[in-house]
Amino acid sequence: MMPFERETMISLVLEEIGRLVVAEDVKPAPGAGEVRVRVAVTGICGSDIHGYTGENGRRFPGQVMGHEASGWIDQIGPDSEEFGLSLNQPVTFNPLVVPLDQAENFRGREQHCPDRYVIGVKASIPAAFATHVIIPSRNIVPLGPDVPVEHGALVEPLAVGVHAVRRVMAEPDTRCLVIGGGPIGQAVVLALKMAGVGQIYVSEVDSARRDLVEQLGARALDPLAEPLTTALDALGGPVGVTFDAVGTDSSVADALSTTTRGGRICLVGMGSPAITLNAFRISTDERSLVGSFTYSGQDFLDAAEYVSRASKEMSLLISREVSPAEADSAFRSLAKGDGTPGKVLVRFNA
Ligand SMILES: [Zn+2]
Repeated sequence: MMPFERETMISLVLEEIGRLVVAEDVKPAPGAGEVRVRVAVTGICGSDIHGYTGENGRRFPGQVMGHEASGWIDQIGPDSEEFGLSLNQPVTFNPLVVPLDQAENFRGREQHCPDRYVIGVKASIPAAFATHVIIPSRNIVPLGPDVPVEHGALVEPLAVGVHAVRRVMAEPDTRCLVIGGGPIGQAVVLALKMAGVGQIYVSEVDSARRDLVEQLGARALDPLAEPLTTALDALGGPVGVTFDAVGTDSSVADALSTTTRGGRICLVGMGSPAITLNAFRISTDERSLVGSFTYSGQDFLDAAEYVSRASKEMSLLISREVSPAEADSAFRSLAKGDGTPGKVLVRFNA
C-alpha cells in the first residue's frame, strides 16, 4: 500500500457536556478571504467553562470552542491581498464576524448586527481550541513585533472591558466600582486605567483575585468582611459608576445600592438570564442601567493597541498555561472554582 502524507492538526472537542477530548483531523485550507492561523495559545473564558458544564446552554457537544487566541498566519487564502498579511506574522483575531454584505451598515456597532456570529460560540464553526483555525482575513488583527504572542490572547477579554467603559462614559474624575474581580472585572479595571480613571474599587470575595486587582492598580474590597456600602462610606460615599461583572440578583442589588443617585450601572456580567431588581432605585433615584455585550471593531483595535504597551499588566493577568492534554482537567478544576485568580491559557504551538 502506498504511504501517503496528509497534514494533520489537533483540536479539543467538547465530546459531551463535562468532557473535552483531544482529536486529530486534517488541516483545513483557507477559502477566499480567509487565512489559517497557527494558534499559539487560546484563553479559557468563563463562558467556555459554563458551556463545558452545560450551565449556559451556549455550547454544544461536538463543538470546538475557543474565541480568545493568538498565533501566526500559517496560510493565506485567495482574495486576501488587500489586508497586507504575511506568512508567520503574529496576530490575534476579532471573533465577532459580521457578514460581508452587512459590514458597512453595522460599522462601529458590529455587535448589533442580527446576523453576526462569534467564532468559538457558533457551534458549527471549528474554533481556536486547536493547533490551527480558519479566520476571515478582515477579522485578523496584527500584533506588533515587540508584543509577547501570548498577550495577543488577552485582547479579546480586554476589548469587553473597553466596550463596557465606553457604554457608561466613565470620565477620569469619576469614582468607579467593579463588582467581581475575575477576568472580566480585571479587564474593566485595565480599561478604566486606559480611560484615565484614577479611583477604582473592586468588590471580590476571593483573596487571590483581590491581590491581583490591587496589582493592577485598583483598591480591593471584601464584601464578606463588611457591606460594600459601609466600605464605600469610609472612602467618600457611593460611586458615580458601577460595573456589574457578575450579573445576578444580588450583584445588581449591590450595584444599585453602591451607585449614587443619577449614577450609571453597566451590566456586563451574564451570571443569570433573568433578574429581579428594585425598580425605585432606577426610577425614583434616576440611576441608569446600561447593558454591554462584546465590543465594536474599534474597541477591539484599541484594546490591541493597549495590550502592545502594557506588557507588565498583561503578564499579571495570566495565571498559568496548560497543554491540550491537560485542558479537560483544567476546565473541570476551573468549573469547581479552584481559586485561579486570572487567565488560564491552553498552549497549542510554541
Ligand atoms: Zn470570552
